[in-house]
Amino acid sequence: MAEVVPDYFSPGWRERVLACPCGWQGDSRATAMELHEQVTDYACPGCGNLLLIVSHPSLDQVRTAAAGGHAEAREHLAIVEETLARFPPAAD
Ligand SMILES: [Zn+2]
Repeated sequence: MAEVVPDYFSPGWRERVLACPCGWQGDSRATAMELHEQVTDYACPGCGNLLLIVSHPSLDQVRTAAAGGHAEAREHLAIVEETLARFPPAAD
């Protein structure tokens, strides 16, 4: 059963050791990562079992985390704001 991380900026999930029923253990960086539109999946590199599902942050979550001093959120927000400034969303 995969664990769901609803808040990308919650601490610790990246470093936590994940254990797969097949015997594999490792942290998220050692897994097979698959990017989807709303979430990123982290699967066991040995057997493909899904271990972790992390929701992508909304812009509000990024802003809240950045305002709280989260370093990665601040970098993320800077990139988002630069992109928005360079490619403003089309008004329809
Ligand atoms: Zn496995």
